[in-house]
Amino acid sequence: MLIGVDVGGTNLRVGVVDNKSVIWEQRYHADFSGLCQRLQPADALSAIHASLAEAMREAIRLYPTVSAIGIGFPGFINPTTQQVTQSPNLPGLLNADIAAPLSKLLNLPVVLENDALAAAYGEFVLAGKDDSLIYLGLGTGVGGGLVLNGKPYGGMNGVSMEVGHLTIVPNGRPCGCGNRGCMEQYASASGVVLNYEELSGKALDTVAIAALANQGDSQALQAYAQAGEALAQGLAHILKVVDVTEVVIGGGLSLSWELLQPAFATRLEADLIPALRGKTQVNISRAGDQAGIIGAAILTAV
Ligand SMILES: [Zn+2]
Repeated sequence: MLIGVDVGGTNLRVGVVDNKSVIWEQRYHADFSGLCQRLQPADALSAIHASLAEAMREAIRLYPTVSAIGIGFPGFINPTTQQVTQSPNLPGLLNADIAAPLSKLLNLPVVLENDALAAAYGEFVLAGKDDSLIYLGLGTGVGGGLVLNGKPYGGMNGVSMEVGHLTIVPNGRPCGCGNRGCMEQYASASGVVLNYEELSGKALDTVAIAALANQGDSQALQAYAQAGEALAQGLAHILKVVDVTEVVIGGGLSLSWELLQPAFATRLEADLIPALRGKTQVNISRAGDQAGIIGAAILTAV
């Protein structure tokens, strides 16, 4: 049995994984993003360690035979040092050591990996694949993960597949990365909110916009269609760089896939290099929101 942890900007999920399935899971409110904005980096890091350790102790108490901990973390992970070199969502966290102090505290091996890459590996394992797969996680932003020839590929600096920041709209909406018109400003949950706000002048959350779309509201439908289209534009570019046969879409926004899919499919067909048309399967996550937990846990054995 292994512990898999999925760290988000505002919540933390800890699972115990046995034979590719989550047998126990607990969600904790953990506003790491807010902590990093309020506190000095060293204090924020201590608070993050404390929250993670406390959450994992509960799992270890219930399942004392767990043998390792895998953590999916939002940020760039240096593959050699395992340090978080930078995290766009957790400002101030630079070259932060998360894994080693936790390993010492809990007396278990701890492996840290980028959250989207952990989810990609979870999907890869669940699909029973032996070749390659791209995962796109549509959450607050758009994360990407690549499993290449059976191995998670994070790149030399852990920045590979940072696809949420591909430029989709030249001189478009400003992005936290410092650039403009990035895919995640259109194709993420926050992107849908912005799409709808531009169309209607109203600020609603994605649940409310989805409810309106399902009632036939044209602006709400359009807000989701724009997200699907932006995702397809981005994916057509990604597939020119990494040519794989399966793409898995996950993250909270993928629960509204039926609202994204028509515009996504039309645009992807139009934008793909003709040689790739009909060659790539796009599937919705097999693990729902548990791909990150399962992948992080199983990565401890890679
Ligand atoms: Zn960006």
